[in-house]
Amino acid sequence: MTAPTLPGLEPAPTPVAPRPGSRAARMALPRSIDVLKEIAAEYGVCVRPLAMRRTDLNTGLTEVIDLPCGATREDKCAPCAKKNRRLRQAQIREGWHRDDEPLPPPEPATEEQKALVLLRGHLEFSRDEASRASQWDQVTDLDEAIQEVEEAIAAEGLRGRVAPQHSTDDEDQGEEDSGRRRKRSTRRRQDAPDLPRRKVERRTVGKTYAAPDGSTYRPSMWLTLTLDSYGPVRPDGTPVNPARYDYRRAAWDAVHFPRLLDRFWQNLRRCEGWNVQYAGCVEPQRRLAPHAHFAIRGTIPRDVLRTVAAATYHQVWWPSVDVQRYTLDRPPIWDEQAAAWVDPDTRAPLNTWSEALDTIDDDPDAEPVHVVRFGAQVDARGVMPGTEDAERTIRYVTKYITKHTGDVHKIISGRQRAHLDRLWQELQVTPCTDRCANWLLYGVQPKGSHAKLKPGRCKGKAHQRDTLGIGGRRILISRDWSGKTLSDHKHDVRAWVRALLGVSVGLDGVEDQGATVKPVRHAWELARPDDPDVPAMAHRLLRSISERARWRSELLAAKDRAAQLPQTGSRTEADGATGERL
Ligand SMILES: [Zn+2]
Ligand SMILES: [Zn+2]
Repeated sequence: MTAPTLPGLEPAPTPVAPRPGSRAARMALPRSIDVLKEIAAEYGVCVRPLAMRRTDLNTGLTEVIDLPCGATREDKCAPCAKKNRRLRQAQIREGWHRDDEPLPPPEPATEEQKALVLLRGHLEFSRDEASRASQWDQVTDLDEAIQEVEEAIAAEGLRGRVAPQHSTDDEDQGEEDSGRRRKRSTRRRQDAPDLPRRKVERRTVGKTYAAPDGSTYRPSMWLTLTLDSYGPVRPDGTPVNPARYDYRRAAWDAVHFPRLLDRFWQNLRRCEGWNVQYAGCVEPQRRLAPHAHFAIRGTIPRDVLRTVAAATYHQVWWPSVDVQRYTLDRPPIWDEQAAAWVDPDTRAPLNTWSEALDTIDDDPDAEPVHVVRFGAQVDARGVMPGTEDAERTIRYVTKYITKHTGDVHKIISGRQRAHLDRLWQELQVTPCTDRCANWLLYGVQPKGSHAKLKPGRCKGKAHQRDTLGIGGRRILISRDWSGKTLSDHKHDVRAWVRALLGVSVGLDGVEDQGATVKPVRHAWELARPDDPDVPAMAHRLLRSISERARWRSELLAAKDRAAQLPQTGSRTEADGATGERL
């Protein structure tokens, strides 16, 4: 028997459709602007395009053209971030297993070029003599002559400057930034003395192995480098004993991790004797410390990788941060007269960066303020080109590059939040560079000090909560990896699509340089969203989506036609590529 229901408390018949026309009914409908953005993302159309006004300098006609924003993080623009990731994947794929050198070595210098460099040498000698004799009018003349020769050298087709420019009268800047080089005693060497040292050959391509049946193969590698332990952690990445977890070292290690990686590659190349190439990324581990994954071209014995990692370190010779002499409430102040940061009470100027480093150099017992090393965990394995394993690895390397460092691991529990906050607290007071405004709290004027610094409130990325101290680049690709820049790869993708479609106009509505036969001169300027000739954002998105949808179906049709044709010399890149690659 069922209990009698009280009047007015009958269970409501479910589900109740909201009254048509009511607010609830309206709210249940998807917002059309969200649907528009969703479709834009589906078609790979940038959702925050930059409106650029292009003026044809011959006719004076102007046109507003949308350029993709080019964001690399998903939260800004998912289509652009994904496009960027695909380009990175193409870049890694192309360099990883290649069996030829990506760039031919430079041509030998001509006699003319050598003669010009010699002349530049004579002028340098004369300038030095004149400068010692304080014949400043001569120095000025010689500087002009040097400038001319430098221009002639560039015109002769040599890359880069022969030597840096001489600093002019700007004395105080000259001494610190471009002037004398700081000498380090050999005690403070940064190289790894225990490793073998070979001359590094120009070669960047790995070794080829021959199987007993005569076939050859050229495997490549996959490497993960981690930092040391700061104390035991639980499976969720939080410390077992937060009070004893070494947050200070964790923060300093994170800030200096990129330098440690540089040293690793330098040591590895010297130890192996060839110009080892890599492409990889820096990501946070669950414990929020950075680690790095790398694709390496060619193979290197695992023992060697381990030995080099164990021997590699980076010393930070910075002033001490043991004593914080000032606080955010009582910071040093800028003295306009002295053009220096001074003590708020005594008005005595703080040590300059140079002075602080001199003190360290003069102290025979000085220790580096920090030393970074890798942890014991070094994972390395071989990867065969063209396998699913290779593709999976590329996807793995690029998995998180569209996210902020802080968003890679979900912070769900209070314990995880406390861990992140504690690390962030430490990162806020850790100096990020030699120009960091936080140095002022430790009683040192950072390099290149000026009035606008905010003591203890440096804007550097390393101090922000969502970087976890990883303030610099997260994608690390060596110079001779694929021999191409990211925009070269972008160009490749476009060229491939163009070839397939048989069109010659640029795909983003912009003619590619070099693709046009007759040079059309254009002036570009950024258009403001409220300029009268800029259509509403929604209109621009709708147009782009329609355009993209048409391209996509044309592209698919072209691919079908190409597939039906007997094997022509089609590009291998067509495999697995769809309209998505645009
Ligand atoms: Zn975008
Ligand atoms: Zn800073």
